Amino acid sequence: MRYSDMFGKTRHDPPCDADSVNAKLLTQAGFIEKLAAGIYNFLPLGKRVLRKIETIIREEMDGVGGQELLLPALQPIDIWKKTGRDVTMDDILYRTSASGNKEFVFGPSHEEAVTPLVSKYVQSYKDLPLSVYQVQTKFRDEPRAKSGLLRGREFGMKDMYSFHTSDEDLDRYYEEVMAAYSRVYDRCGLVAHVIEASGGAFSDKFSHEFSVETAAGEDTIIICDKCKSAQNLEIAEGSVQDPSTDAEDELPMEEVDIERDFSVAANAKAHDVSEQKILKTVVYEVDGGGLLGVVIRGDLSVSDVKLENYVKKMIRPATTETLKEAGLVQGYISPVKISDKIDISFIGDHSIKNVKNFVTGANANAKDLKNVNLGRDFTIDDFTDLVEVSSGFDCSKCGKALKEITAVEVGNIFKLGTKYSEAFDLNFTDQDGVSKPVVMGCYGIGTSRLLGTIVESRHDDKGIIWPMSVSPYHVHLLTLGNDDDSSKKAEDLYKDLSAEGVEVLFDERDERAGVKLNDADLLGIPIRIVLSKRSLENGGVEWKLRDEDDSKSVDLGQVIDEVQKILKK
Ligand code: ATP
Ligand code: MG
Repeated sequence: MRYSDMFGKTRHDPPCDADSVNAKLLTQAGFIEKLAAGIYNFLPLGKRVLRKIETIIREEMDGVGGQELLLPALQPIDIWKKTGRDVTMDDILYRTSASGNKEFVFGPSHEEAVTPLVSKYVQSYKDLPLSVYQVQTKFRDEPRAKSGLLRGREFGMKDMYSFHTSDEDLDRYYEEVMAAYSRVYDRCGLVAHVIEASGGAFSDKFSHEFSVETAAGEDTIIICDKCKSAQNLEIAEGSVQDPSTDAEDELPMEEVDIERDFSVAANAKAHDVSEQKILKTVVYEVDGGGLLGVVIRGDLSVSDVKLENYVKKMIRPATTETLKEAGLVQGYISPVKISDKIDISFIGDHSIKNVKNFVTGANANAKDLKNVNLGRDFTIDDFTDLVEVSSGFDCSKCGKALKEITAVEVGNIFKLGTKYSEAFDLNFTDQDGVSKPVVMGCYGIGTSRLLGTIVESRHDDKGIIWPMSVSPYHVHLLTLGNDDDSSKKAEDLYKDLSAEGVEVLFDERDERAGVKLNDADLLGIPIRIVLSKRSLENGGVEWKLRDEDDSKSVDLGQVIDEVQKILKK
């Protein structure tokens, strides 16, 4: 492609409303152009990258037996009513009415379309397992479209759906897809962390997220560099470091009058102890009634998700009014010396087991207790891990310090079970002639988000650094100056490389060297070849890789070989 002929050009400055690196660089370099918040045009350069990403995904999905199809983006509301997702996903659904009082939605996902389709063809165990996928545009009315391609309202997704006779067969396939997903990210030049995700309180849903570290991401994840493990912040496990109070004697408990604020910091200051010595009680209202006090070390926080998963009910922090009604004294609540008349149960985090001589509230206004000890002064029947892990905790497997990183989710896979097959009567007859619901899995990768993520994680202050696998072109060939000899040799090289199947962007513009070289850095094509009077004097072309600092001279006759060597890697 001759640069002068290409539709879409680099801009001198990035757009002023770009809120992320990917929006900035991709727009400035002429890959995408925003139409409205979360809605982008893909220009030829952007489309080439997207197509390459999709090709990698297609190869890997075909590799695990996926068959590509295309489902409709426009879907009648009735199928959404069948699963109840017209209500549960109402806030992000784009709805549209059509003639004859019909209502449609623009598909935010395709379980409702694929399940009735598959039910038309699957009747017997002999028709299973089956895996189908598509690469489609999805529509979601995201309340906050942001970060360029990372959170769009119209975006690309590969979604695959698998159908099985049993949970065991789904488990087997799920593992295969998980490995294929890792290959996709690897081939796109990304390091993706695999996270077992929380299914929430009542769900037996099992899912994994694939996340890539980037400052523009919206998720916080906890990783261990040594074990290479990654966990969702909300349910991460880690070892809490114990304070060294083992050698202390248990001192006599004392009640003291105190004027203090409610925060742990103020409490610790008022008593001149560390926050680890504060016995903190966080009170929650449990769905369906009842108060639950979580007793945890003062310097630690409660993970609401871990707590919900443990009690298997929805919870919310108790309000000041609720505490008052129950007879609890806000700011001074503890499991010590609590009146039998108050209807509250307590659950303990393991962190309180190894601290002696705690300071805590005396369940009376402006009164605290000092030298409180578990077992002697209060008991807790139920202990579990309820702590929210953060940087500084140790990995519970290898002991290395855990790290908190910001990441973006680039893929999500779920074991759906029979939820959708039951909604759409997707059944099969087993070997004994018994009719059973089909067991399903679903597997998504955001293709446009993946493109944005590659830019987020692979750029420098000059521009994008594409991995060869998805780069819009293999080689960026530039002429500098406009002397006839080097222009002619560049034309020949362009033709020769193209004839060998090398994808070349040929910048033959009569522009200043600075402009052309800056554009090459901005566009980020992996191999830059400069052909000029000076390069010929130096023995051929000036050869430079985008991710390396140094350039070298390569003999004109060797260029094709050198390029092929890199392409074969
Ligand atoms: P998120 O938690 O980021 O909102 P999600 O869990 O709703 O995503 P899924 O329904 O699991 O997303 O969709 C599968 C994949 O599609 C995601 O892993 C992500 O890569 C991509 N994706 C989801 N929402 C968007 C969006 N608004 N813009 C771009 N890509 C998206
Ligand atoms: Mg998700």
